[in-house]
Amino acid sequence: MAENKLPPRHIILMGPPGSGKGTQSAILSEKLGINTYSAGELLREATLSGTREGKAIKKLIDKGNLVPAKYIVNRIKEKLMEPENLKGYILDGFPRTLDQAKVFEKMQKKSYFQKNNLCVDLVILLQVPDDYVIERIIGRSQCANCGTLYHEKYKPTKVFGVCDACGGKEFTRRADDTYETVVSRLRNYRSVTAPVIPYYEEKGLLVCVDGTGPIDVVSEKIRKIVGY
Ligand SMILES: [Zn+2]
Repeated sequence: MAENKLPPRHIILMGPPGSGKGTQSAILSEKLGINTYSAGELLREATLSGTREGKAIKKLIDKGNLVPAKYIVNRIKEKLMEPENLKGYILDGFPRTLDQAKVFEKMQKKSYFQKNNLCVDLVILLQVPDDYVIERIIGRSQCANCGTLYHEKYKPTKVFGVCDACGGKEFTRRADDTYETVVSRLRNYRSVTAPVIPYYEEKGLLVCVDGTGPIDVVSEKIRKIVGY
């Protein structure tokens, strides 16, 4: 019965916008001492690199077109092949489409990934209902002076209108944190990203986590699954 299975260290964190996957992957990253990569950041990095591929990606993004899966997977492949990532990695919000998942799967068949056991061994899905996401995103604000994040319901300032950290009295909100944009991002998630879920479920890699509730409660649930 004793199965000497290694704890998962090649992890995908999925979930709708506002599910807290950025926060949770940062916590997990620190606890496990492994890097987190988000496809959005890698693409942004590529557009700034000035390489031919970077310029092509920038053109596509500027035109509002979808960046082909192979570009994104290539970026991720380059990162994951860096020696420091031999101990593991976390992917935050990637794959975003079924196409990306399939191209990524093919990439993992390469001998480097097979030889070094670098294939994905766990997919965590943070589940949160739509109305919760909407409430969570719309209530966000940030201190204009020091950048501390607040939420009118979940993390209000101790004194109304005054930053706990620096005493600043000016707060900003992200321009795209409106009801309309959140609803459209959720709709996009349901139609474009949700099909990735059954794909990993069939592979036996998917574990669902209730993403509602305080950050430390959610990270404790993840800790138990990952084992650290
Ligand atoms: Zn402040």
